[in-house]
Formats: sequence, structure tokens, C-alpha cells
Amino acid sequence: MDRLIEGHKKFLARVFPRRRKEFHLLADSQAPECLFITCSDSRIVPDLILGTGPGDLFITRNAGNVVPIAGNDVDGCTATIEYAVEVLKVKHAILCGHSDCGAMKAALDRRGLEALPKASRWLQHVEAAFSHRQPLKAAEGPNAELASLIRGNVVAQLKNLCAQPSVARAKSEGRLAVHGWYYDILTGRIERYDERLRRFLPLVTEK
Ligand SMILES: [Zn+2]
Repeated sequence: MDRLIEGHKKFLARVFPRRRKEFHLLADSQAPECLFITCSDSRIVPDLILGTGPGDLFITRNAGNVVPIAGNDVDGCTATIEYAVEVLKVKHAILCGHSDCGAMKAALDRRGLEALPKASRWLQHVEAAFSHRQPLKAAEGPNAELASLIRGNVVAQLKNLCAQPSVARAKSEGRLAVHGWYYDILTGRIERYDERLRRFLPLVTEK
């Protein structure tokens, strides 16, 4: 906790004064262009890997970057999606999974879940990942099976995202683009899911 308080002191002393004008503009409104849905994992720092800052990304996170199937149940994730699309009018919705995802590890091997009734039920949302598993990559060695499932989960959750009524409407009206990403913690690289080719490609290509 001390580290956080020290960090906040530094923010107040060094960062805030330099960016006062920016925060002043953001104090009573926001107009982010991107909704970003990702895992709660502490290693995913969107602003760090995307060069974004305050006001840029409207973010919702949960274990396994899940978008619950559209239905009558209310949850934080789908309520956030609805608000982002209908009120903030975001132009892009990005669903981002990541390597070494604990939620997906648990989906592969449910043995540790007996004492976690909530997490266990939550992970029912990722079952569809198994039917969207992506080709194994030899370069990923012993992690290949997990990585294949994690990419499959991005595809599965992307489908759930597109099935959200607000998203389906905005997409059909051409005012929203939806993206599926896989972030590799070890290399720092992001892959994007190409819907037409049905496979993941580098987001940034080497020149
Ligand atoms: Zn995760």
C-alpha cells in the first residue's frame, strides 16, 4: 500500500501539474473512441501497450475477458458495453485476450475450482472457446495448447459481443467496428483476428 501512496504523491507533484489543462478538459466530460474489453490480469496495462491516456479508452475487465451471452441477465460487462455504444458512441470495440491467462488455464484444468464457486460458474462463459480453438503454434512450445484455447476464447467472446443488441445495431448502421486481439506478454506483441481469413495475424507488421 505504501508504494501506491508514494506513487500518488509523485503523480500529484510531477504529473498532474504538467497535465493540468488536459485534466481540466476531461473533468466534466469524456468522448473515448474505443471500448476496450480485457482480462483483469495485472499484467495487461492497456495505456502502456497502446500509448493511450486519460479519456482514450472506455474499459471493462473481468476474469477471462468474457462477454456474457445476450439475454435477460444483467451484468457489469454487458451494461458497460451498452453504455459505451449507445451513449458514448464509441467507434471501435476491442476484445483483448492474453497469453498465460489464469482463467483459461482454469478452464483447461478445473481441478483448482472446487473451492471457488463464483469463478467456477463464471468460467461457464468460456466453454465456447473449446469449439473455436486456433491452430497450435510450434514456437509456443508447452504453452501452445493454452494459447490456442485463449485465441479461441477471443473468437468466442467476439461472437457474444457482436450478439449484444446495441453492438449488432451499431454494426449494422456502420458506426461501430469490432476487433478481436491476442496480447502476448512475453513478446509484447498484439495479434488481431482476421474474420475473413479466420486466423490471427500480427497487428503491426515488420517492415
Ligand atoms: Zn486472463
